[in-house]
Amino acid sequence: MNPTRLGTDAPNTWCPGCGNFSILNGIKTVFNELEEQQVCPPEGLVIVAGIGCHGKIADYLNVNSFYGIHGRTVPVAEGIKIARPDLKVVCFAGDGDAYGEGIEHLIFAAKRNVDITVIVHNNRSYSLTAFQTSPTSAVGFRGRSTPGGSFEKPLNPLEVMLASHATYLARGTSQGLPLLMRLFREGILHRGFALIDVLQVCVTYNNLYEYYGKKVYELKDHDPADPAAAHARIREWDYTSDAPIALGLFYRSEAPSFEEKFAPSRAGVPDRDAAIRRFLERSI
Ligand code: SF4
Repeated sequence: MNPTRLGTDAPNTWCPGCGNFSILNGIKTVFNELEEQQVCPPEGLVIVAGIGCHGKIADYLNVNSFYGIHGRTVPVAEGIKIARPDLKVVCFAGDGDAYGEGIEHLIFAAKRNVDITVIVHNNRSYSLTAFQTSPTSAVGFRGRSTPGGSFEKPLNPLEVMLASHATYLARGTSQGLPLLMRLFREGILHRGFALIDVLQVCVTYNNLYEYYGKKVYELKDHDPADPAAAHARIREWDYTSDAPIALGLFYRSEAPSFEEKFAPSRAGVPDRDAAIRRFLERSI
């Protein structure tokens, strides 16, 4: 399949230059590769999107999709994966969505190691609602909800996820498409809970292209199997300071997924799909 066939006719309403375009183009290419390499056809994919500018990605991708309500994308993705372990489930969420309203869901999905991939469009602002402070906004951020400047320290989501036993943790930026595609591919193929924090630039309200351009570097000589090393690298930058910003894979470990552990407990439970089929056959 050509990646363009994964697009739709829906008019794209993102602002020109928005970092969401990179995420959309990157995921289309990766979905296309998954089909070409016979890993997963488009009908074996389900995406879940939340509320925010990012959520429109569900309109622009021609695969099975579900719009969750604000902060509730992750439990929907978990439910789909547990009901249909054969599907690859990719969840798109914003920083307000995932790290604000939905943080408890994120923590428990990581703790359970449900085999879903969460891609966070982290523009560090509530942009759809026109510029309020989000959980990852920097100290001093002057949004509409903090006109005098935010005095709260931002959340370091990767640190929270590491403490919650996530088994794949990475960060990319919307300007770095080759790295982003590698992380998307790895996250989707990883067996267990994967989170990719994407520093997605919002050109309209929080244009950090130049700042990220000067600060980011790609992790090298880093052992992602070492949780202490991962913690140290994750703590280098606190989403406010002028420290260099590491990109790439911070942490990866192997552990049975929730579905694998859950499957034996389903033995003896009536086959619901077969029961529905029998019911429909009798009704026709
Ligand atoms: Fe992108 Fe920001 Fe425009 Fe939303 S407001 S579409 S995040 S540039």
